[in-house]
Amino acid sequence: MKTIEHFVNGKIYSGSSEKLSSVFNPATGEETAKVKLGVSKDLDYAVEKAHEAFKDWSNTPPLQRARVLFKFKELIEKNEDELTKIIVSEHGKVYEDAKGSLTRGLEVVEYACGIPQMLKGEFTENVGRNVDSWSLRQPLGVCAGITPFNFPAMVPMWMFPMAIACGNTFILKPSEKDPSCSLKLAELFKIAGLPDGVFNVVNGDKEIVDAIINNNFISAVSFVGSTPIAKYIYENCAKNEKRVQALGGAKNHCVVMPDCDLDQAVNGLMGAAYGSAGERCMAQSVAVAVGNVGDPLVKNLKLKVEKLKVGPGMDKNSEMGPLVTKDHLEKVKKYVDVGVEEGAELIVDGRKLKLQGYEKGYYMGGCLFDKVTSKMRIYKEEIFGPVLSVVRAKDFEEALSLVNDHEFGNGASIFTRDGDVGRSFSNKAKIGMIGVNIPIPVPMAFHSFGGWKRSLFGDQHMHGPEGVRFYTKLKTVTSRWPDGLKSDTEFVMPTMK
Ligand code: NAD
Repeated sequence: MKTIEHFVNGKIYSGSSEKLSSVFNPATGEETAKVKLGVSKDLDYAVEKAHEAFKDWSNTPPLQRARVLFKFKELIEKNEDELTKIIVSEHGKVYEDAKGSLTRGLEVVEYACGIPQMLKGEFTENVGRNVDSWSLRQPLGVCAGITPFNFPAMVPMWMFPMAIACGNTFILKPSEKDPSCSLKLAELFKIAGLPDGVFNVVNGDKEIVDAIINNNFISAVSFVGSTPIAKYIYENCAKNEKRVQALGGAKNHCVVMPDCDLDQAVNGLMGAAYGSAGERCMAQSVAVAVGNVGDPLVKNLKLKVEKLKVGPGMDKNSEMGPLVTKDHLEKVKKYVDVGVEEGAELIVDGRKLKLQGYEKGYYMGGCLFDKVTSKMRIYKEEIFGPVLSVVRAKDFEEALSLVNDHEFGNGASIFTRDGDVGRSFSNKAKIGMIGVNIPIPVPMAFHSFGGWKRSLFGDQHMHGPEGVRFYTKLKTVTSRWPDGLKSDTEFVMPTMK
C-alpha cells in the first residue's frame, strides 16, 4: 500500500514517526493509501528549513518571484488532468467540479503573478521641507496554512501562492483525508524553480496543528475548517502573538422572492445545494421561500432532487459524487433523522440510496426538507451534506432577519427581479459574500474571500488585496538628507509649520 509522506526542503521527507492514517477512495470505500501523521519534531524540522530559505527568498526581487509563479501556473495547466483525478480519487466530487475547483485555485496563482505591481509602495515627496516619506510592505517570515478536506487544491491555493509571492516561506498542513494533491503541487512548484524550503507540506492531525500554534518561528497562520477549530486556532495563535485568519463553517441562505425567475432560482439552488454533495462552505443549505413562492418552489425542487444522478466522480453522467468518508456519511444521515424527529417535512429522502457495483462507496441521495423552522437543529447547525432545508417567510423583512440572526455569515443569495429588493439585501445582510441572482457568490481571485460572524475569526479575508495585506507588514520610512541646513535639537513633537 502506498504511503503518503511529507515534502520538506524540496524533497519527500519520511519524518520521524510511524503514525499513519488511512486514505480512502470514497467512490468505492477502498483504502488506497496511508498518510504519515507527523509529530512536532517533523514540524520543527520543516520550520527550520523554511526559516533558512526565508533569508534569500524574501530578498529575491518580486519580479523574479513572479517568474517562478508564471512557470508554476503553466505546470498546473499541463498537469490539470492528473491533479483533478487526484482530487476525485480522495475527495469524491465529480470530475468537472474538481477541475473547476482547481481552476479557482489556479486563478489565485495568476493573480499572484502580478505581485510586483501589488507590492509597489506609496511615496510622498516633502512631507516636511526636504523630508520624504514612503510606505512599503515587507514579508512576515515563515507562514503556515491548515486546510479542510473539501477543497484539497483550491483552499491551500488561496493561501500559499499569495504568501510566497509576498516573499514569505510556507508550511502547509493539509487535511489528512485527502493529502495527495498538496504533495503534487509542491512537486510542481519545485520544478517551476521554487528554491528548496520555500514551500513545505507536513501531513498530520491535531499534533501538527498544535506544533504550528506553539512554534515561535511561525509568524502567521491561515486556517480554513469548521468553526470550533477555527476559534481554537484564532485564540491560541493570538495568545502566541501570531497573525491569524481563521475561516469557519457556514449555513448559507438563499432567499427566493415571489417575483423571481423560478427556473433560474431552482436550477441555481440545485447546483448550490447538491453540487460537491453539499460539502462546500458556500453550499446553499437553506432556501428561504418568501410569500406564495413556497409551494411552487418545493414542487419544482422535488422533481429535480428525485432525478439527481448520483454516482462515482469519474463517471461523466454523475451530477453528485459520494461523501468524503463513511463517518461523514453517517453523520449527515443522522441529521436527516433529527430533522424528521424535529417535525420538518421530508419531501425527498436520499438516505437509502445504494449504487449497484459501488455498495461500499459513501453515497446517499439528495434530501429535501420543507417547513423547517429556525428552532430546529437542522436549521441551526452546519450539516455539510446534500440536504436542503426550505424555510417559509411571510415577507422580505422576515427573510432578512433569518439571514442576519444566524450565527454564520459566510455567503447568502437572493433571487428577485426587483432591483430595490436586491440592493436592500446586499446592503443590509450581515454576510461576507452576497449573490444577487447568483447562487454561489465566490469572489474571484482579484477580490477577497471571507465571511462574517462565526464564519471568520480575524480581520483579513483570503487572497486578492486582503491576501497581500495579511501576508505583509507595513513599514513607513521618513528620511532627510544633510543639505547644509542648520540642524537644531528639538524637544517638541515635530509638526508642519
Ligand atoms: P475540520 O475543522 O475538521 O478540519 C480542518 C483542519 O483542522 C484539518 O486540517 C484538520 O486536520 C484540522 N483539525 C481537525 N480537528 C482538529 C483539532 N481538534 N485540533 C486541531 N486541528 C484539527 O474541517 P473539515 O471537516 O476538514 O472541513 C469542513 C469544514 O470546513 C466545514 O465546517 C466547512 O464549512 C469549513 N470550510 C470553510 C470554508 C470557508 O471559507 N469559510 C471553506 C472550506 C471549508
